[in-house]
Amino acid sequence: LVRLRARLSRSQNALGKGLLTLLSREHLDEDTWEEIEDILLTADVGVAPTQELVERLRERVKVLGTRTPEELRGLLREELLKLVGTDFDRTVNTESALDTPGIVMVVGVNGTGKTTTTGKLARVLVADRKSVVLGAADTFRAAAADQLQTWGERVGARTVRGPEAGDPASVAYDAVKEGIAEGADVVLIDTAGRLHTKTGLMDELGKVKRVVEKHAPLDEVLLVLDATTGQNGLVQARVFAEVVDITGIVLTKLDGTAKGGIVVAVQRELGVPVKLVGLGEGADDLAPFEPEAFVDALIG
Ligand code: GDP
Repeated sequence: LVRLRARLSRSQNALGKGLLTLLSREHLDEDTWEEIEDILLTADVGVAPTQELVERLRERVKVLGTRTPEELRGLLREELLKLVGTDFDRTVNTESALDTPGIVMVVGVNGTGKTTTTGKLARVLVADRKSVVLGAADTFRAAAADQLQTWGERVGARTVRGPEAGDPASVAYDAVKEGIAEGADVVLIDTAGRLHTKTGLMDELGKVKRVVEKHAPLDEVLLVLDATTGQNGLVQARVFAEVVDITGIVLTKLDGTAKGGIVVAVQRELGVPVKLVGLGEGADDLAPFEPEAFVDALIG
């Protein structure tokens, strides 16, 4: 797995640098606090968390009186860490409590990076000496099954697929059955994410979930969100959370945006931690989300 801090620093550290520069001004007047707010809002931190953070910073800076750069950096680091949250369990749960394979379902809107994430995750698991079966239950997007199978061949995981435009639930069913028959360690199920209508999505994902759970409990449901889509991503997140119990978030394309604040916003929205982040299109570009490394990358 790639080192989060090193890979994030280029795109993210505008946020923290900007905050530090403003906090270092001799006179922190109202305009400065507004500029600080603007930086946070532009980074997609969200309104309520921004206000909370600014309030705490105001309070602490007042208590501090004269400020050394080191003190300011330390203070900002602490407050950003609180905002990102250090108490979440961010482990991706791929172990089953039963005698069945661990079952991970990957959901999200098409184009967010679901299939890529599923492939990258398979690679991590295989590197960890786990046997993995991939279920290509995104039967809607024509190329999705081919794309997943290519990933499977690359990383050494078998792909179970069905006919084009076939029933996603039956592919998921076959994948789990196959995983059980083979005694696989983990089954990763890639799903379709067309948000054409909410009921359509609910029916489809709900059915996949029910069918899988007839055989084995779902151990992890990962929602894939594209970090570059900002508030739109939050709307999507809400819709998916109504359909399935999301247990973790994968934030993709963090390499292409300075809007890292979406981590805070989406965790607030769903009450579920960001567990993994996507930092590029390559096989190695998936990293566990580590709050310390993330905040350090922000501050630079
Ligand atoms: P899906 O429709 O949700 O399955 O999306 P795909 O997995 O096909 O990904 C859509 C596009 O986003 C592809 O071109 C991927 O290579 C790209 N992609 C996925 N994850 C990342 C990421 O973390 N960073 C970048 N830069 N591109 C990504």
